[in-house]
Amino acid sequence: MSIDLTKLNIDKILEGFKNKDFTSEELVKEYLDAIEKDNTNSFININENAINEAKKADKEREDGSNKPLLGIPLAVKDIILVEGMKTTAASKMLKDYNSSYTATAVKRLQEAGMIVIGKTNCDEFAMGSSNENSYFGNVLNPVDNSRVPGGSSGGSAAAVAVNLAPIALGTDTGGSIRQPSSFCGVTGLKPSYGRVSRYGSIAMTSSLDQIGVIGNNIKDNAYILQYMAGHDELDSTSSKNKVEDYISNIGKDEKKLVLGIPKEYYSDHIDKETKNVIEEKIKELEKEGFEIKEVSLPSTDYALAAYYLLMPAEVGSNLSRFDGILYGLEGKKDYSLEEWYNNVRSEGFSNESKRRIILGMYILSAGYYDAYYKKAQKVRTLIKEEFAKVFQEVDILLTPTTPTTAYEFNKEVNPIDRYLSDVFTVAANIGGICGLSLPIGKDKDGLPIGLQLLGQSYNESKIFNLGNYIENNIK
Ligand code: GLN
Repeated sequence: MSIDLTKLNIDKILEGFKNKDFTSEELVKEYLDAIEKDNTNSFININENAINEAKKADKEREDGSNKPLLGIPLAVKDIILVEGMKTTAASKMLKDYNSSYTATAVKRLQEAGMIVIGKTNCDEFAMGSSNENSYFGNVLNPVDNSRVPGGSSGGSAAAVAVNLAPIALGTDTGGSIRQPSSFCGVTGLKPSYGRVSRYGSIAMTSSLDQIGVIGNNIKDNAYILQYMAGHDELDSTSSKNKVEDYISNIGKDEKKLVLGIPKEYYSDHIDKETKNVIEEKIKELEKEGFEIKEVSLPSTDYALAAYYLLMPAEVGSNLSRFDGILYGLEGKKDYSLEEWYNNVRSEGFSNESKRRIILGMYILSAGYYDAYYKKAQKVRTLIKEEFAKVFQEVDILLTPTTPTTAYEFNKEVNPIDRYLSDVFTVAANIGGICGLSLPIGKDKDGLPIGLQLLGQSYNESKIFNLGNYIENNIK
């Protein structure tokens, strides 16, 4: 049998199971076949047990189970642990690391019935904007294979875009869910800091990292967040705030939402076509009766600089555990301790990881700490305060997700050019707020353009509500 994977979403899959159009086993097989034929290099490894898990799900359904997402396939970024599978963080350092437990987010989705089909490719340790930093090779943008899929969750975004999975998990520290979603034409949510447990996600920047979702539409994002959000004893930074009822809130009173346009996100740095498309959509929303207000977030200009100080400072310390003793590649028995560290870390890390570790150590070193780290922390406070102020006036901010559409691969590029990709996404992480990228149009080359919706912390419902309205009425 053959199932048309291009038209699937969670509701349709559940309907297909109910009407006995297909079983989980058939669906999982179909996705695994598609992954085998894939040319985008989206997956690093496959769950060998997926078919068995699907058979079990089919049996449970027959026995009357009411698990809400029973038998639905899920792809997981290879930086999130799933017991029984490797987790490589797309690094040579961890190429043989077997996950010693399952991340809370994945565990909750498994408890809701989902089946992990495989682990997706990404930039090494989630550091990058283009997927050019993976030990397992570049992921190709499905729309144009000569271009990057974005990063770091590029494999997750490309996998959903080419129907290798209906849903994928990613992580977002400075834009790694929203930017690749924008580049690949899919819908990706970075939840508020603390909304989803980070337990079992290999830490890049602990104060900014969040696990989130990449899917084909808003409702699928809402479903996944619904079942993975909430406090976790194993992550003290996870929030005790009540998880909203995202699904049933969709479609309620959207027109009451006040939309803010932060002028700093519409400067001359942004590509003209991207800017025009976004501005057109905003006009359409105004015609539809939404109240639109221009607002200002003056510290936006400093967000990227602050991010590239705060992030490496934490990266340097988080990656220190990969020393070949507790974790990582092994050295040779006759190495001295110093040779061991030197050789294992020189061999295991890519240039990008080394660059960030060295930067991080420099930023935190005596004499520079105040000038760099402390100053960046002050900018963090300013950014938080500005968001808090602006969200007293408006419910959601609308911005482009990225300043350009997907660019071509280029190994020789100055890393700073790549860092500029994140100019519109990093502030949400620094502020701890939630953000989503929604495909909104295409440029003249047919490359997707993303609209970013930013909401106050723990206001994911508002984002889903507006996103769902745009999805159905504006595109
Ligand atoms: N592209 C950004 C970076 O390279 C963000 C990464 C992320 O969000 N994980 O750091």
